[in-house]
Amino acid sequence: MLDIDLHSHSRVSDGILTPVGLVERAYRNGASMMALTDHDEVGGIPEAKEAAERLGIRLIPGVEVSITWGKTTIHIVGLHVNEKDPLLIDRLWHNRDGRKARAERMGERFAELGIEGAYQGALKYVTNPSLISRKHFARYLVEAGVCPSISKAFGRYLKEGGPAYIAHRWATLAEAVRWIQEAGGIAILAHPGRYNLSDLAMHELLAEFKELGGVGIEVVTGSHTPDQYLEYARVANRYGFLASVGSDFHAPGESPVDVGCLPDFPCRVNPVYESPVFMPNN
Ligand code: AMP
Ligand code: MN
Ligand code: MN
Ligand code: MN
Repeated sequence: MLDIDLHSHSRVSDGILTPVGLVERAYRNGASMMALTDHDEVGGIPEAKEAAERLGIRLIPGVEVSITWGKTTIHIVGLHVNEKDPLLIDRLWHNRDGRKARAERMGERFAELGIEGAYQGALKYVTNPSLISRKHFARYLVEAGVCPSISKAFGRYLKEGGPAYIAHRWATLAEAVRWIQEAGGIAILAHPGRYNLSDLAMHELLAEFKELGGVGIEVVTGSHTPDQYLEYARVANRYGFLASVGSDFHAPGESPVDVGCLPDFPCRVNPVYESPVFMPNN
């Protein structure tokens, strides 16, 4: 087991726990270092930092930026961003803008599919008014008995190209990397195994990300299978990326990996947490 977790969500985006509750859970699970990486939001970081300080664990300020690459939605994790940077806060706000209209259209799409009230139902789960995500719809579909689980809700309705999926244009890859860098952070490609890309497209994504200044990819993540840990460890080494590790925890009983409960890398890699930006004085 590793005592490091560099990808997690609180109710400031689409997680269930408060930032404080999340840090306390990570601490109880044995973590010594964790990053809070809410979707396009850094508002939970001050509270999380306070809790981490009280408990004696290290909180890395982070964010998970949604981008559009070609037709595919990709997530870029920023670590060590300055959560007080007004430019970053403004840029993230603009990236969130449009979620409400998209969610209303998803609600209309569900109605066409014979599922009424999905938008209102999803809203019941929303904890940040500017951040309604597909996860909130998934929770409602489970509650309403339409789907037996969150993952079935994605598989049946919400996945990219699914019947209730509404395409959305987020920031570009270049913007996300620049925003993270200008806020003092480093950019990591989140859960590369989750995108539906051909080998060639994945190669192009990795090459472009590297060219733009991306420094790492997630290798051990709650979104990968153990086979993918090894696959992406090798990819990281081949492309010269640092390897990151993060549960992508959202909620107890919902996420496959609990916060702070990750296995070690399956082979030798250059871990992101050994890079200079993680040195205590930074
Ligand atoms: P959105 O930002 O609204 O497009 O929603 C993305 C959210 O959906 C993120 O929290 C992901 O963790 C979650 N998500 C995406 N695909 C899946 C999946 N197959 N199973 C469970 N959650 C997913
Ligand atoms: Mn999420
Ligand atoms: Mn993600
Ligand atoms: Mn995430």
